[in-house]
Amino acid sequence: MKSRQTVLQNISGKAFDLCIIGGGAVGAACAVDARLRGLNVALIEAGDFGGATSSSATKIIHGGVRYLEQALKDFDPKEYHVVVRALRERVRMLDNAPHLTQKLEFLVPSYSWLNVAYIDIGLKIYDWLAGSARISPSKFVNREETLRRMPGLKRDGLIGSVEYCDGQFDDARYNLALVETFDRNGGLALNHARVTSLSFDSTGKLSTAQVADQLSKQSFSIDATVFVNATGPAADSVRRMAAPAIPRRLRLSKGAHVVLPMQVFPTEQAMLIPKTDDGRVLFAVPWRGRLLVGTTETEVQPGDELYVTQEDVEFILGQLNNYLATPVTPDQIVAGFAGARPLVSTDEFESTKKIARDDVIEIEPTSGLISIMGGKWTTHRAMAEDTIDVVEKSLGRVSGSCPTRHHVLYGSEGWTIGHWQELVSTYNVAGDLARRLSLKFGTAANDILNLVKQDESLGQRIISEHPIIRAEVVYVIREELAMTIEDVLARRLGVQFYTWRGAREAAAAVGAILGAELGWDHEQTQSSVNAYVSYINRLLDLAGLPRETSGPASAKPAL
Ligand SMILES: Cc1cc2nc3c(=O)[nH]c(=O)nc-3n(C[C@H](O)[C@H](O)[C@H](O)COP(=O)(O)OP(=O)(O)OC[C@H]3O[C@@H](n4cnc5c(N)ncnc54)[C@H](O)[C@@H]3O)c2cc1C
Repeated sequence: MKSRQTVLQNISGKAFDLCIIGGGAVGAACAVDARLRGLNVALIEAGDFGGATSSSATKIIHGGVRYLEQALKDFDPKEYHVVVRALRERVRMLDNAPHLTQKLEFLVPSYSWLNVAYIDIGLKIYDWLAGSARISPSKFVNREETLRRMPGLKRDGLIGSVEYCDGQFDDARYNLALVETFDRNGGLALNHARVTSLSFDSTGKLSTAQVADQLSKQSFSIDATVFVNATGPAADSVRRMAAPAIPRRLRLSKGAHVVLPMQVFPTEQAMLIPKTDDGRVLFAVPWRGRLLVGTTETEVQPGDELYVTQEDVEFILGQLNNYLATPVTPDQIVAGFAGARPLVSTDEFESTKKIARDDVIEIEPTSGLISIMGGKWTTHRAMAEDTIDVVEKSLGRVSGSCPTRHHVLYGSEGWTIGHWQELVSTYNVAGDLARRLSLKFGTAANDILNLVKQDESLGQRIISEHPIIRAEVVYVIREELAMTIEDVLARRLGVQFYTWRGAREAAAAVGAILGAELGWDHEQTQSSVNAYVSYINRLLDLAGLPRETSGPASAKPAL
């Protein structure tokens, strides 16, 4: 990707066809779509790309089994439409970035025949709605086979399970792949730059955004013919920059996940717990050698901090333990994360659990600000397609055909499942490292290993127990606009989502490399490391976990 300095030079004070505010899944997808249609586009992100909701997902590519149940119960065509659209997008998301996605089988364990019948019929409808976009048909799995696949399940009264198939993806890296695709097609993307206010021409039409660079603390402006507000949970605040009296459209719902060692519940398939105490579903999903369990649903307000709390831990483990032969305890948790779902609803009394995960495009009549709100990760591409159709109309262009339905993202061109073996033979590296690099970076993994070829010291690990090497850190700073320790360890390398204590251990090495690459002095390097260590300690404290591991260390497979 272009360096931050190059982007800043080409963005500040310049004019664009389109300025997109927000670099999460939706903003990044809008940027790719608009750029591939030939528009001159700037993408501005306040924090890091994917640093808000888009790296806090359960990482499932799905139509939404729960939303289908709700649609059927409520006879709600809106919910039904959301499920069908997401099922169609599921296949596109899998096809467009194979190195970051995979099909995943889910088992729904059942302890009553009535329940088996109910779930089986529901999933047959799910299959039917998917039509030709179906991945594989759902089916009943008997008790013996269910226990063979999930030996940690509670046995008493177990009848069997119903199996169905959805997809799984690396949300943070998918977001980055979108930004990289945008950049490599000539787009300009800037992170750590917040839009602080908007200004208008003499007719009241939005013409300029003021942007505060969060790193240099300098401000600049960007002119554009059209502005898209893709700020997820912050959409109302940007809408009010354009029209201060406008009513709120979003309700925010926090969802938390905990990450556990795979040994607590060994399985290659995901488990869907069909009914939690608050009437939702909960997932326990194998995720890169860990078990990801979530999520919760609690209403929050804009600006609230989003952390995994002790209460979240109690709720999640409580629901999970209803299904396990050996209960999991909080001290086994190794990491966690939380995000806010941006849900579109004007009804302040409607439960967030019932709000459809639909999306809405709004054009503010005076300023012309286009806001895209709501939706899910699975539908990000379709949301972008609809938004850029509206942008083209605003620009007076004839809407062309959408280029993103079959556009393979950066890192996936030419990538095959056997790519990691090529890395092993070409670069003579260990299989676990090659596999991890191939799944995180796709074909760009070759560029990382070429760095090691030039400088052997870059092959050293940054944490003793995991195959993560210094070259990856150098690569993401030079090529992926990583500007902070968290940018590196969370979104780009995934360490923070895998092991909080491991991420804290890696902070000093990553801080030193960032300092050397970005020209920080000793004081800045040290204060960045200290701040990150305090941040991880705070995450542990808020979740009620000890700062140091108490029990025996778990096995450490690939990230
Ligand atoms: C707990 C949880 C689990 C989920 N699981 C799934 C799942 O398994 N599958 C699925 O399909 N979906 C899932 N979702 C939904 C999905 O994650 C979201 O719909 C999606 O990530 C929203 O993307 P976004 O781009 O709209 O928002 P965000 O990712 O929040 O992006 C908005 C961006 O705008 C930036 N921004 C805000 N204000 C400004 C400003 N003034 N200037 C510049 N930038 C600004 C923010 O920093 C942020 O990065 C889940 C959501 C949650 C919360």
